[in-house]
Amino acid sequence: MRAEILTIGDELCRGEIVDTNSSYLAARLWDLDITTRWMTSCTDDAADIASAMAQAVTRADLVVCSGGLGPTEDDLTVDVLARLVGAEVVIDEPAKVRMMERFGRLLSSQAPMPGMERASEGSRAGSAIEELTRIQLRQVRVPAGSRVHGNPVGLSPCFEVALSGVPVVCLPGIPRELHGIFDAALVGRFTELREARGQVERIARRIYRAFGRGESQVSQACRGLVDGVPGASIHYQVKFPETLVKLVVRDRDQGAADARLDALDAGVRERLAGVVYGTGEHETLVERVTRRLIESSANVATAESCTGGMLGELLTRMPGSSKAYPGGAIVYSNDEKVRQLGVSQATLDAYGAVSEPTVQEMARGARERFGVDYAIAISGIAGPDGGTPDKPVGTVWIALDSADDQRTKKLSWPGARDQVRLLSAWWALKLLHDALDRKEAR
Ligand code: ATP
Ligand code: MG
Repeated sequence: MRAEILTIGDELCRGEIVDTNSSYLAARLWDLDITTRWMTSCTDDAADIASAMAQAVTRADLVVCSGGLGPTEDDLTVDVLARLVGAEVVIDEPAKVRMMERFGRLLSSQAPMPGMERASEGSRAGSAIEELTRIQLRQVRVPAGSRVHGNPVGLSPCFEVALSGVPVVCLPGIPRELHGIFDAALVGRFTELREARGQVERIARRIYRAFGRGESQVSQACRGLVDGVPGASIHYQVKFPETLVKLVVRDRDQGAADARLDALDAGVRERLAGVVYGTGEHETLVERVTRRLIESSANVATAESCTGGMLGELLTRMPGSSKAYPGGAIVYSNDEKVRQLGVSQATLDAYGAVSEPTVQEMARGARERFGVDYAIAISGIAGPDGGTPDKPVGTVWIALDSADDQRTKKLSWPGARDQVRLLSAWWALKLLHDALDRKEAR
């Protein structure tokens, strides 16, 4: 099944926003075994939208559009598509009801809508709703006769029409809404469309998240893994600094696909031992580490030089992370390493700020001063200047300290400054992750 993705919006074509909807949709379609053959973007101009849609249905079996479903005058997707299929534009009643409920709630809550009356001002609330309705009603319109897929997140309904016999599905541009609709309604619908075309294979899929080796080493380690396994394939995706390994098995029977996938699982884990830290679409290394710390009632403090707080930023991403992360010290200069963490001047003089003894003292100092179970310290040369022959740019020392487990790691990764810093912060997490593994194994 060949799909075309059409993203609509002036902001996209002016380069003001990045078209993440296209990549999201392509990835999700690929997961459903639907290949995106074309990705098109056009402005909010009605003639441009019409010609992009007309062209898309000449070559694709499915067209998925995003954008232009909002309430403002430049939101034209509904009108254009209605004209193309020769239908009227009508109000989608369930969406209208939801909108009225939503605005009713908003108006009766404390915060007044900008430019609107407060509901607490009694009878005026009614006219405020009317006024609001007049403006907002635009976004609950659909071409008559379309199949409407609900929007669990926002107000604009997602709808589907057949243009020249090709299903055209229109979604709002706001990514959060697009994702919500895809999960709630489109996975099922697209599977149905695919199967209606006789493409009836079922898919079993697992994503392994790998960190610590580059993509080429990861793929090298998995070479030949799926050879001879019917319907199986393996794919790699770099999401710097990690690599996602995607294992896919296709079969007409879901149970058979699942069984072959399960049989391959041990092989992947064995070949990528110490590199795969988790599975699934969502849980990244930082989330996993934070969750494990919270679950084991342990906490960590940070001592950061070249990452300047990046590790702290990562460790505060998850809601509830305060249980695991009381804080850290940003010690960019040598003086601050001494003042905040008690690193000895003699160590700095003898070995330099980017050295194993220095990060060890930083970690120890942080653990003592913050009174925590674990401390991680990072000191390195992120570049582009500051490298020396024996400590080139990309040299980073990381230390983990706890009462019964101490580790250090030296990175030598001559990348761009931002990459060196991000990689260092992730390696610090990895050191902690591995320490938690060892603790669990004891
Ligand atoms: P709205 O109700 O906000 O008008 P809409 O369905 O009309 O929704 P647009 O007006 O096209 O959608 O876009 C709304 C916002 O969604 C944009 O300002 C932008 O932030 C985001 N957005 C739109 N298209 C994309 C895209 N292709 N990729 C990422 N973000 C997008
Ligand atoms: Mg809009």
